[in-house]
Amino acid sequence: MARPWRTSHYVVAAALTAAGLVWATREAWPWRQPLTAPAIVVDAAYSDFSHALGRRETLSDVLARAGVTGRDYAGFLTAAKALPVRRLRPGLVFEFRRLKTDSVASRVSVRLSPEKRLSVARGETGWVETVEIIPWTVMRLRVTGTIESSLYDALDKAVTDTFLPPVERRQLAWAIADVYDWEVDFTRDIRPGDRFTVLLDRLESSEGERRFGRILAARVDVARTPEYAFYFEDSTGSRGGFYDERGRSLRRAFLRAPLQFRRVSSGFGSRYHPLLHTWRHHEGVDFAAAYGTPVRATADGIVTRVGHDDSGYGNLIEVRHVNGIRTRYGHLSGFARGLHAGERVDQGETIGYVGSTGLSTGPHLHYEFLVAGRPTNPRRKDMGAGAPVPKSLDAAYGGVREALRAQLEPTGPPAPAVAAARD
Ligand SMILES: [Zn+2]
Repeated sequence: MARPWRTSHYVVAAALTAAGLVWATREAWPWRQPLTAPAIVVDAAYSDFSHALGRRETLSDVLARAGVTGRDYAGFLTAAKALPVRRLRPGLVFEFRRLKTDSVASRVSVRLSPEKRLSVARGETGWVETVEIIPWTVMRLRVTGTIESSLYDALDKAVTDTFLPPVERRQLAWAIADVYDWEVDFTRDIRPGDRFTVLLDRLESSEGERRFGRILAARVDVARTPEYAFYFEDSTGSRGGFYDERGRSLRRAFLRAPLQFRRVSSGFGSRYHPLLHTWRHHEGVDFAAAYGTPVRATADGIVTRVGHDDSGYGNLIEVRHVNGIRTRYGHLSGFARGLHAGERVDQGETIGYVGSTGLSTGPHLHYEFLVAGRPTNPRRKDMGAGAPVPKSLDAAYGGVREALRAQLEPTGPPAPAVAAARD
C-alpha cells in the first residue's frame, strides 16, 4: 500500500444529506474554543460587527454595546421568543448590523445551535424574529495514521485543520478511546508505530463548518495486534454498540483503566512517569494524572473500604466484584460525595479523585487488581469476555460488518472469511 498518504487518507465512501441528525445536537455545542469573530465589513450603507457574551455579562450588556437599550431592548426581548435569555453561555457570539447613519443596531443574529440561527431585525413596526435552519451534510470518511507519541499527536498529523478543526479532532480522539474503553488503555497499551484506521461520519454545514459526527468502524493495532470494532444495532435500534470481527461485544466486565482517556491530559503521560513512590509493597499499576482527576470504578461492585489507610495507600477505596476480584484505588485526594462501605457502584462511576496521600511523591493513582486476594497486573484477557451478538442476529451482523469492513479497509488485504464464528 505505497500510495501517497494524502490520497489514501480521506476516502469518501458515501455521502448522505441528513437534516435533524440525532448527534448533531450533542453537548459539545457551543464549541469550547471561542468562535472567531468575523472581520468588520463596511460598505456605504452599514457595518457588521460582533460581540461575544463575556463571563458575568448579561444579554443587556452585550446588546448595549450595539446601542440596543431601553425601549429597543424591551422590544427586542419581546420579539426574540426563540432566545433562551436565561441560559446563554459565555462566549456566545452576537452578530450585529448597523446603518452607518444610526446608533442602534438594525439586526442582531446569534447561532442558537449548530443547526439554528436566530435573527431579530428592527423595522418600521418594531423588532421581528426569524429562525433560520442551517443544514448539515454527512460524509462518511476514513482516517488512518500511526501512533508515535500519543493518539492526539497521531490525529494532528493524520487530519488537517480543514478536514476537522482541532477541537473536533480531540472529540474524535476521545470517541476512539471510548469505543475501546474495555479493551485498550491508549496511554499504556499502544506501542510507538501502532496503526489505526477509523471510519467516521463527518458533518459539514452549508457555511463550511466541519464537525465530528460518530464512529462507524475502527481498527487499532495494539502492540501490533489488530483489534476491530464495528457498530451494530438490532432492528429496534435500541441497543447499539461495537462488536469485534467475531461478533463479540467490546463491552466487558472490567474497564481497561480506572482513568478515562479524555481526563488524562496527554497521551503517554504514565508510560515514562518519574518515580511516584518508594513503597516496598508496591504491587499495582500507577497512573500519573493531575490532582483531582476523576477515578472511576472499573466494574460493577460493592464498596468494601473507603477511608485513610496507614500502610502506604493513603486515601483508599476497595471494591469487590464478581468472581472474587477486588480492585483498589490509592493515594486519592478525596472520595465521591457520600461514598461508603456496602454501597453498590456501577462500572464507570466516579468514586474518587487522584491525589498524593500516603507513601506517594507526586499525584497519581495506585490501582490494584486482585484475583483471589493477590494483586496481579491486569492483562487484557482479564477484562472479561464480551457478550456475542444474539444468535438470531448473526446473519444481520455479518452483513453490517462486511459492509463496514469494505469501507474501512477498501485497499487492505482480504480478511479471512469468518462465517458466523462463535465460541
Ligand atoms: Zn503504585
